[in-house]
Parts: sequence; C-alpha cells; structure tokens
Amino acid sequence: MTNSNPETQEAHTPSNFLQDIIAEDVRTGKFGEAVIQTRFPPEPNGYLHIGHAKAICLDFGLADEFGGKTNLRFDDTNPEKEEQEYVDSIQKNVRWLGFEWDRLCYASDYFGQLFEWALQLIKAGKAYVDDLSADEIRQHRGTLTEPGTDSPYRNRSVEENLDLFVRMKKGEFPDGSRVLRAKIDMASPNLNMRDPVMYRILHATHHRTGDEWCIYPMYDYAHGQSDSIERVTHSMCTLEFADHQPLYRWYIEQLGIFPSQQIEFDRLNITYTVLSKRKLIQFVQEKIVNGWDDPRMPTLSGFRRRGFTAEAIRAFVAAAGVSRSNGSTDIEMLEHFQRDDLNRRARRAMAVLHPLKLVIDNYPEGQEEFVEVANNPEDASAGTRQVPFSRELYIEQDDFREVPPPKYYRLSPGKEVRLRNAYFVTAQSVVKDEGGNVVEVQCTYDPASRGGNSPDGRKVKSTMHWVSAAHAITAEIRLYDKLFTKADPYDLEEGQDVLSNLNPNSLEVLTGAKLEPSLASAKLEDRFQFERVGYFCLDPDSTSEKLVFNRTLPLKDSWAKIEKKAGA
Ligand code: ATP
Ligand code: MG
Repeated sequence: MTNSNPETQEAHTPSNFLQDIIAEDVRTGKFGEAVIQTRFPPEPNGYLHIGHAKAICLDFGLADEFGGKTNLRFDDTNPEKEEQEYVDSIQKNVRWLGFEWDRLCYASDYFGQLFEWALQLIKAGKAYVDDLSADEIRQHRGTLTEPGTDSPYRNRSVEENLDLFVRMKKGEFPDGSRVLRAKIDMASPNLNMRDPVMYRILHATHHRTGDEWCIYPMYDYAHGQSDSIERVTHSMCTLEFADHQPLYRWYIEQLGIFPSQQIEFDRLNITYTVLSKRKLIQFVQEKIVNGWDDPRMPTLSGFRRRGFTAEAIRAFVAAAGVSRSNGSTDIEMLEHFQRDDLNRRARRAMAVLHPLKLVIDNYPEGQEEFVEVANNPEDASAGTRQVPFSRELYIEQDDFREVPPPKYYRLSPGKEVRLRNAYFVTAQSVVKDEGGNVVEVQCTYDPASRGGNSPDGRKVKSTMHWVSAAHAITAEIRLYDKLFTKADPYDLEEGQDVLSNLNPNSLEVLTGAKLEPSLASAKLEDRFQFERVGYFCLDPDSTSEKLVFNRTLPLKDSWAKIEKKAGA
C-alpha cells in the first residue's frame, strides 16, 4: 500500500470482484429494470464488531455505487439468544458508521410467509416431519466420506406431515420432540443438503412476536427466502456460507420465487483480535471486560468509546480490501489509519500523566501569564488558545533524571531545556522524600526566552510539555493495550481457551494526571492529542467532579515502520 491518506484511499483503489460482478449484471440487465438491492443481515445476538463494519461498508457502499438501495434486516430466528438491546445497538452503530438504510426489516416479519411456504413444500412432497431426536439426526447424517441414512420417518404421507406440522405450530408437542426437514438427498456430498432441518419446536418468547409462535425457522430456511421477499439482487456474505448457497437456491427454486444472487467474500480478521460474537458475549458475561462498549473490545461501540472515528474505520476497511480467501490484517494498519485521521482532526493539549513538580525559583511568586498556543498545527482554522503559566508547574517524571543516562537530553541538574511555547529552564536542585525519591525539581528560567526561543540563538536539545500546577485539573486517565498477547489469539495449547491468551495488563488506570484547564470543557465527541503522549478522548464515565480520559492510541506509529520494512 502506498497511499495511506484515508480521504483519497477509496478513490484510488482498483475495482474488486464484487464491483465487477455487479457491474456485469447491470450491463447484461440480469435483474431487468430492478434497482440493485442489497441488505445487511445481522443476527441481533450481540453488538456489532469491526468485522461487521466490513460487511456494512460493502453492502451499503456497493448499493450506493450502483444507485441501489440497502435494507437493514435483522435475521431474528433464534429467540433464545436475541434481545431488543442488540437490535437498538446495531441500528445506532450502523448510523454511527455513516450509513442509512432504505427499509428496516425483520426475518420475524416473514414468519407467516415462511410457514405458508413450508406447507407448500410439504404438499409437494419436499418436506417431512421427523421424530428423531437432534442426536439421532446427527448420527444419521453421515460424514464427509460416508453418505447419510434415511430417517424412518422420511416417507410419511403428505397428509400425516401436514397434520403433524400444523399441530407442531399449535403447540401440541414439547420442545425438541419433532422437526420439519427438507426432503433433498441424504447422500449429497454437501452435508447441508442432507435433509436439513427447516423448523424446530421452541416454546420461547420472541423479542418481537412474543408467544405467537412455538416453532421457529432455522437460519438456513429463513435467510434465502428473506432475501427473495425483499428482492435482494446481490446478497453478499462471508465465505463460510458458500456451502449453504446450494440449499438457499434449492428452496428458491422449489418455491419458484425471486432468485437473489449470493456472493461470498472473506471475513475480516485482525491480529491480536477476536471477532466472534459468541466469544465477545463470553467476555462481557464473565466480566473480563466492562461491557460491550469497553474500549478494549473490538465492537463498534468499544472503538467509538475508545475515540476511534467512523471515517478511519471506513478507510481502514476499504484499504484492507476484499478477496475470495480468508487472511489476516495487521492491527497496526487499523491504528495507522486512526492516527492519520486524528493527526488531522485532534486538538492539541498539554497533559502530564505522571506528574513531577517543577518550581522556578526566579519566577515571581503569585504571578501568572498566558501563552498563546495553536490548537492544531495541521489546521489553522482550529485557532489558538491561552494556556496559563506560573511559578509552579508539573512535568512528566520521565522528563527528569537526577543522574542522566547517556544520550538523555531531557531535564537533569545543570541542563537547560525548553518548556513548550514558554521558556527555557535550567534544573538546579531537587527535593526528595524520605525514600530518596525526587518529588520536586527546582530550576531557574530565562525571561528573555519567552515563546520558546532565546534571542542569543542558544540551542536546547529537548522540548517538554508542562501544566501550571495552580491551574491544572486532576483527571483519571485510562490507558489501553491489546486484549490478547498473541497475534493469533487462537494459537493455543491442547485444552486451552482463547482466554489463556488474554493480556493481563490491557488496562492501566492513572488517577492523578494533571491537565491544562481548557480540557475542563471537553465534550464526548472531541478528539485530543496530548502533546508527546498520545491521542485521547473524554470517557462517558466523566462527571463534573471527575473527568476521565481514554487513551485512543499512543503517538508512535509502528505500522509506518512495518510498511517501510516490507517495502525495503
Ligand atoms: P460472528 O461469527 O461474529 O457471530 P456472524 O457472521 O454470526 O458473526 P451476523 O450477525 O450473522 O454475525 O453477521 C451479519 C453479517 O456480517 C453477515 O453477512 C456476515 O457474513 C457479516 N460478517 C460477520 N463477521 C464478519 C467479519 N469478520 N468480516 C466480514 N463480514 C462479517
Ligand atoms: Mg451468525
């Protein structure tokens, strides 16, 4: 990749195979006068993660590109795992990413139609009620190398099947006692075609249909027909559904309904990251993280709270590209896109995370002054602000060494440095606590160096950030690191779970950080670069008494290095 500017990235990417297929279908008029119709079909059984962002960008992006429309459809066929909370969060997240759906649909809206179609298949001798248990069905299914065996109930009469299926719907039978199966081919090399289950009995309350139904369609029976009902022309999904495509087509052909075309693409996988709702739910339930929007979570809510922006996520997804085989993308690439975006938009501020008192002996007590500072050197329109300066300041503990190691250019006794936008100071002496730790540095300043330059042209090797002690606000800072220690979190020893690769130090909380006073008016959507420290944003846990800031990313961009190495 040579072009790393998110704004121009999309424009320079050559067309991908999805674009090529749709362009060709438009050219040949495959779908007649119909507009291109896509859908994003989440199951509301968890929050969206960044993998879903890829699907969303493709579904909405491709429809947009070809003047088409996109539905948001909830594939809500599993009442035991689905909740309104997830439905709400998914809508919020799709909008946050920057997309608006044409129609809001639910597979549960089609339960009546799907039931009618099931009756139609039974009448055509294409579906039957099976009394085998789930275990027995599995045993009869066969393997990749051996054909399955017919269920003893496979050849029930149409009348008996109709009677039993209607009674299943009426609630006459307990959960798990019977299923409706498609009658296809128990010897098919594709296991999905070996008489797949269409309906199961489940006396569960559905988040939308309540107790209206006690039989529920399987995902595979509902998905293709839902696409067809919505006249989806191009039904994009991830590669693991390729083996299901023949089944979706079979249903559509048997029923003689609108033939949506399924096209598979690769899942987004990111190093050091787990993208599976099943796992993410476990992290939430077992309190490994603090909820779905924990800033360490790869959910869109988590990224948002961490300070990531929709623009950067979209640019990253576009740059990661789309292909027909699964791979893995470096997390550093995502971070690189985010830094690039924040570098342009983030307001600069000074904040000291690990404070050390710096007292200027020759600065008049009780005096204060204001230095004018640019809010964003990358964006003149962001303006300037006045930052208070006084006799007592805070600097970072790391910016002072009583005994400096070789090549240490920051402050040490006798050494002169620049306080950013303010003055040159020279360290003179230190105050220590009983344990011998330096708790205060005393220095002198050169009043002629105001603004950060000395009229005599004297050079200093280091520029440090600072905060005026009397004006500082104290805040909590949350520093995040990767949630997993291994690039492939599934690289496990026998019997281990991904949890054994958890990073025990993924969250560090600092309670006594000192911030310049302008940060008191920070808003949730504001983005900051704390100079020399990293990118930060306000956390919703903040109160008027206690501000909390999240570190979105440290400043260092390791991706640039990786890229350079790869190119060299
Ligand atoms: P998970 O395995 O995380 O539970 P899922 O595929 O079960 O994900 P769905 O709600 O069924 O989640 O997904 C909605 C859409 O998002 C589907 O079209 C699916 O193919 C797509 N999708 C899910 N995960 C990814 C991913 N990592 N990369 C790209 N697309 C994805
Ligand atoms: Mg799924």
